[in-house]
Amino acid sequence: MPTLVPTTIAGSLPKPEWLAPAHQLWAPWLLEGEKLAEGKRDAVRLALFDQEHAGIDIVTDGEQSRRHFVTTLIENLEGVDFKHKKTVRIRNRYDADVPIVVGPVARTHPIYVDDAHFLRGQTGRRVKFTLPGPMTMVDTLYDDHYRSREKLAWAFAEILNEEALAIEATGVDVIQFDEPAFNVYFDEVRDWGIAALERAAQGLKCRTAVHICYGYGIKANIDWKATLGSEWRQYQQTFPLLAQSSIRQVSLECANSRVPLELLGLLAGKDVLVGAIDVATDRVETPQGVAATLRAALAFVPANRLHACTNCGMVPLSRDVARAKLEALAAGAALVRGELSG
Ligand SMILES: [Zn+2]
Repeated sequence: MPTLVPTTIAGSLPKPEWLAPAHQLWAPWLLEGEKLAEGKRDAVRLALFDQEHAGIDIVTDGEQSRRHFVTTLIENLEGVDFKHKKTVRIRNRYDADVPIVVGPVARTHPIYVDDAHFLRGQTGRRVKFTLPGPMTMVDTLYDDHYRSREKLAWAFAEILNEEALAIEATGVDVIQFDEPAFNVYFDEVRDWGIAALERAAQGLKCRTAVHICYGYGIKANIDWKATLGSEWRQYQQTFPLLAQSSIRQVSLECANSRVPLELLGLLAGKDVLVGAIDVATDRVETPQGVAATLRAALAFVPANRLHACTNCGMVPLSRDVARAKLEALAAGAALVRGELSG
């Protein structure tokens, strides 16, 4: 019988201090060459240990081998100039110096396939591997070649699909595409975003997931959330479209959020990965708090489709806090599991 209310995380975990400085996005590596490669593998082992020790059912590599969830993948592609950057506004929220698309983008070699193979070999648990989604990739670049967000997204979708199929072949159980941009560009989501996401996942036989959140707990995101009013209805536009899509799972933000929970009812037929851990605070949830979030979601999600998850990646947190949150997540899900089967 499948596990009721299985637990998983959105993706990232903080890195050990000997690998990269804490509390930073795009943190630089502190090792080089073969020492860096070995350090990344050791960090993955630790991330797995922490998840397994806490009792997380579907584990990730904690994204220990990438500096950033979008740019590390793009750095490996042809057609993007990383030497000359341009300033753009990310998700209408904050300025960042980003690389420039200067020609046709192409994947000339496997990017994360060795990482996925290593992850698969290190644990007997079900594993999830995360990739950025096409729209979020587009939103992290200045495009001087396609001059069309849709065309560039489509090119990325084809690249992501090649990479995802190769990752699937290593034996991972879930491939997740991170699309925080889906919470911002609603017309584009409708016009081509969902189609590009489905193109990225085309032909995959493992579980497919999309993660849509309100971002890491960094100041620009917290400030943005403060402007969204008392009810966050962003999901209302996207969920009905996702319900019609071929993507199997949707990972979303619930803990301490102002998302009206009835919006989860728009995801009929999907596995719903309910964020029951707030990644924007060091305050550690209690198992009872996690259970309360999950119970509230059960009013709109059938029990056999409910997964317990984090709101977003935990990379900006300290490792102690992240570990404690993993334990609270597993303990809270266990409470609800007990109630459902008792
Ligand atoms: Zn997220």
